[in-house]
Amino acid sequence: METAQPTVPGVEEHPCLALVNSVSDSGRGGWRDELATPEALRAWLLDRDLIVPGAVLQEYCRGRIVALRENLRDLFTAHIGGGAPPLEAVQALNRALTSAPGALLLRYEPGTGFTRSADHPVTQVVEHVMALVAEDAAALLTGDDAPKLASCEAEGCLWFFLRTHARRQWCSTRCGDRVRAARSYARKRVRSSAQS
Ligand SMILES: [Zn+2]
Repeated sequence: METAQPTVPGVEEHPCLALVNSVSDSGRGGWRDELATPEALRAWLLDRDLIVPGAVLQEYCRGRIVALRENLRDLFTAHIGGGAPPLEAVQALNRALTSAPGALLLRYEPGTGFTRSADHPVTQVVEHVMALVAEDAAALLTGDDAPKLASCEAEGCLWFFLRTHARRQWCSTRCGDRVRAARSYARKRVRSSAQS
């Protein structure tokens, strides 16, 4: 069975990083997608407080979130490589940003008085999630933490993280340990073949 997810710096604070990292190498020659079904997506979003418990998500919603995930991957990859991102990815992010009103509306209730809160009609669940994730990604790519965004250098790892120090290469101790173990195995093999 799957072990617990390793801690990856930046993922707790940034839903955009959590979304990009929701797909990983299964280690068995395929991918493990945490958002493989609408039910899995619903549980994933609930876990992160991105939807309310009663929210309903269809396969169509899942398709849109997964497409946003691919656009985020393109944007992050371009940012890290220093190249220009695909125009479609920028446009898709901007569509997501404006897909739901982000303004906090003014409300009045007798007894409570004025309050402000976002409008969350049940029909726009996916739009709100996309707007929130897109806002987070746009802020990350242009903010103080932008230079810290990195992709894991471990072979087969697809994850992104925020560097906790300048030379950090791995998303997690899981990847760091895996790479160190592989190197030590390779050294032993070189030694034993030199002896024989
Ligand atoms: Zn990794």
